Order: sequence, then C-alpha cells, then structure tokens
Amino acid sequence: MGKTNVKKVVTRFAPSPTGFMHVGGVRTALYAWLWARKNNGTFILRIEDTDKEREVEGSIDHIKECLKWLELDWDEGPDKGGPHLPYLQSERLELYKRYAQILINKGLAYPDPYSDEELDGFREQAELHKKPFLYREYRPAEFEKWDEKKPLRFKTPEIKETKWNDLVYGDLSAGPEALDDFILIKSDGYPTYNFAHIVDDIEMGVTHVMRGQEFISSTPKFLAVYEALGVKPPLFATLPPIMAPDGKKKLGKRDGAKDILEYRKEGYLPEAMMNFLALLGWNPGTDQEIFDKDELVKSFELDRVQRSGARLDEKKLDWINKEHLKKLSPEAIQNSILEWLPENMRSGIAGKLEPVLFERISKWGDIRQMAGAGELDFFFKKPELSDGSKLLFKNASAEETVQNLRKAAEWLSGISDFRKEDIKNVLMEIADSLDARGKLLHPVRYALTGLDKSPDPFIVAEILGKEETLDRLNGAAGILKSLE
Ligand code: GLU
Repeated sequence: MGKTNVKKVVTRFAPSPTGFMHVGGVRTALYAWLWARKNNGTFILRIEDTDKEREVEGSIDHIKECLKWLELDWDEGPDKGGPHLPYLQSERLELYKRYAQILINKGLAYPDPYSDEELDGFREQAELHKKPFLYREYRPAEFEKWDEKKPLRFKTPEIKETKWNDLVYGDLSAGPEALDDFILIKSDGYPTYNFAHIVDDIEMGVTHVMRGQEFISSTPKFLAVYEALGVKPPLFATLPPIMAPDGKKKLGKRDGAKDILEYRKEGYLPEAMMNFLALLGWNPGTDQEIFDKDELVKSFELDRVQRSGARLDEKKLDWINKEHLKKLSPEAIQNSILEWLPENMRSGIAGKLEPVLFERISKWGDIRQMAGAGELDFFFKKPELSDGSKLLFKNASAEETVQNLRKAAEWLSGISDFRKEDIKNVLMEIADSLDARGKLLHPVRYALTGLDKSPDPFIVAEILGKEETLDRLNGAAGILKSLE
C-alpha cells in the first residue's frame, strides 16, 4: 500500500433520490463498496436530497432496496446510524451554513446581488460576444451582508489552470474557464450539490470518491473550495461511462438503462448481477470471469478500472448468471424452480421438471416465460392432438405410424425402471429398424408433447411416467386410426 492509504479507507455512495437506480448508479455503489471492503474500510450511504424539485417519492426506499438486494451493506447511513448523523443532506442544513460562514469570514463567499433578469442579461451579453458566460466577471466590487434570502456564491480566490490526479484517468487539467463563482447555498436555504458533497466528504472523512465522468468538468471548482477551506481533497476515481449495447453511445433509458430491480424480477441472482457489474469497467488482469463476492473483494483494484466505455451486454449477464446458477445446491435449484413456476403448476410433476428446465434457462424468469408461452402445458395435461396428421413424419403413412406408436407403447411397457436411458434404448431399437428414424421419433415426440420442438422425448417420457406415456402413445395411435 502506498503512503496515501495509511489513513483508514472511507468511501461513500451518495445518490440523489431522483428516480430509479440503473446499472450506472449501482456500479458506482459497488466499486465504492468493494474498495472499502478490500481495505477493511468504511462504506457510507449518504442521500443527497437537496434538490427538492427533482426528488421522486419512494426513491430513498428504492435505493436501499437495490443495495440490500446486492448485499452492499453500508456501515454508516440511513437505518444504520453512525458518527456523522444524519445521513440525509436535507437534515444537515445547519452544517452547510456553518461551512458557508467560514468562507464568508475569509471573504470567499458573498450574496448574489443580481435578479434573475439581470443574470439573463449578462448571459445574453456573453452570448453576443461569443464568450462563455462566467459569473465571476460580473462579481460585485463590494459584498453585502448575507441575509439568507439571496443565493450565496463562492468567490473563486485565484483564477488559474487546475491540475489534479485521478486514480483512473491519471493526470487531468483544466483551464481558468473551469473556475467560476458558483452557488454554494440557494435562496431556498438548501446547499447546491457542488458545495454540500464537499462539506460532507470532509466531515465524514471520505478518502476515495468514486463517481461518473460527468463530474470531471466541475472538479476544478471542487478543488478550489477544498483549497479555500484549507482541507486536503480526497482521492478521485472517475468511473468509465457505460455504453449502450451497440457500444456506440452512452447508455440511455431507451437503450436498456432500466431499474436494477427489474433484473431481480426477471430472476437474476444478486451474486451474478454483482459479478456482471464488477466487470462493467474493471477486469482482474486474468482470464477469470466468474467471481463470488469474496473473490471480488480480494481481486478488485482501482488501478485496473478501465478508462474506455464499458458496453452493457445482457447476453454476458445471462452467461454469468447461468454460471452462478450452476453453483447452487440441488435443493436450492429445486426450490427456485417451484417458486418460479406459476402457482397452478407447482405440484405433482413439477418436482420432476429440473432436468428439462434447468438446461434451458439462464435466469429463473425464463421458467415463467416458458410456462406463460404454454411450453410446459403438456407436462400437466394431455396435449390436444386435434390435427392428427401432424403425427406423420414426412411421407410416412397413417397405417405405419399407428403400428410404430403401438409397438413403442408395447415395448416400453416392458421396462420396469422407467428411466430415460432405457426408454431411449428401446425406442432407438425400434427406430433403427425403420427406413427413417423420424418415423418413430417424430410421432412419439408429438404424441407426448403436441409440439414439433420440445425437450427430447426420452426425458419427457421419464418425467411423465410409464402409465401416462403409454396412455399418450396409444391415444395418439387411436386418433390416427380414426383418420385412416
Ligand atoms: N448525488 C450525486 C449523484 O447522484 C453524487 C455524485 C457524487 O458521488 O459525488 O449524481
């Protein structure tokens, strides 16, 4: 560990409660959590609810629910407490005022004397001269006393180039135009994000700040405030953007930036989701792609976070999920299958479906989908063979098909332990004696399932059991016979 890490690592996830959490937000939380856990540090959840207009009801509960689903437990924060209570910014207004007062006392903050119309006028002037609008160019020569009815602005002490180091993006710099007299406290008494998060990161002893690229352009302003307060800034680790599945543009709601709890509804495992999110912008430098939680904590390194955009690839998520499903115990798999089958399919034969279901799914929700599409109905009730001609394989006649089905039923009735291996042996023996195997295997499949495509008929027969299998084969033969 380098010298900078001697202090106990403290990270935070600081979402604004402005809507649902999507992969980008949760990935930020995950990286901050991983870094804290890896370093035996502290992971804080702080709710940045100072923009009351953008707040969406229920978001705070939603945020907590997402973190809980992924088991990203926080050491300090809502419901948990900690030495820096409260953890909702809207309940910390006095603290921001105290910090604002420090800046006022240093002559580094002042009330904005202008009306909205006046500011609009300045903006228009700047536009007319094709210059960026910088408030500081209109800074009043003398500062009034702050009565809290006016916005309080930061007085940028020194207009200069800013250079800083980012743990992911390396050396970064920005020209003087990145610095401006931004608002610290709004006229409604709430601080801006730009100010509040600095105060809180200082108060909470945050050592590493992980967040998205959209904050790079404001970092010079943040650094100027740290300097004005005489506090060393935390280390910054900017995370790469998440790209839409086509890899060409940043992920937007239309390209699948969906509520993270949707993945839970679709039946992904939280440990798979965590694994997937971890690899969305980070790699271990080895071929390993499947990680459990402990392995991730051990392997995660900030210096292996990539700079280039990370593509959201749900096929990869499906693959990762399947790998995690395979690690579950047989009992857990059995229980989940029952849980994900529709209620009316949870008894009787349901307990035997594992061999056909498990290999065909990548997430539990696929079971529900298959059931919804009627693909499992034949296990629970005899298929309707209203169109008997579908039992016929290519040019096979009804007469020979009836014979084949009857023979299959007869031979199968002789098996005492009705298992797919024996079932297969028997059926293949008959099939191989014909000029085309399909003349037996197709009608058997169709008689058992009523489908042209289905899991293989041997396992279907085993699951249905001997009696039901023979019944269906003879029944199909009967239907065909009546067509002759
Ligand atoms: N409240 C900010 C957001 O939700 C957090 C940014 C930060 O982590 O500093 O985007």
